[in-house]
Amino acid sequence: MLGFDRGGANIYHARLMFARPLIDGADFALNGKELRGEVALDTLPRLSDRLAESGGYVAFYLRGHQMFDRLLLEIELTGKCRLRCQRCLGEMDYPIAMTSSLRLVSATEIDAADTDDETECIEAAPGMDVLSLVEDELLLGLPYAPSHTVGKCAEQLNVSKQSSSPFAVLAVLNHKQ
Ligand SMILES: [Zn+2]
Repeated sequence: MLGFDRGGANIYHARLMFARPLIDGADFALNGKELRGEVALDTLPRLSDRLAESGGYVAFYLRGHQMFDRLLLEIELTGKCRLRCQRCLGEMDYPIAMTSSLRLVSATEIDAADTDDETECIEAAPGMDVLSLVEDELLLGLPYAPSHTVGKCAEQLNVSKQSSSPFAVLAVLNHKQ
């Protein structure tokens, strides 16, 4: 089973030490290539500020395709992580389920393409770092102010009241930074 236990996370970590996957963006799209993999969230350093704890994983599925003269890269992410509720500061499970479509353009096209297109554009390069793409999409897709559903949040607040001292609140605030 996939989960938050350290053992599982270490397996993904070790698997990725062998090679950080790279794709040739234009070739990937033109030839309809696909790539699947999994990565532990603690191997994505830019994500750490957004997570309540570093456990969790994300499975990625990249698919390249061409539509008319456009080269597209679809990124599908599924997994789970722990975020911090911005109402009670408690931790919460957050299921990751997001799909995004990126348009691959050349360096000379990118400025013009960004203004006349709703699809996000990225520069196609021969050695695009897949984990960095995954990290970018997570940074864009995770909520900035996550919160529990109303009932769950009240449970968290009751727990902190029972154990409460001013220092307990300080500890929570410190942890947030
Ligand atoms: Zn909450």
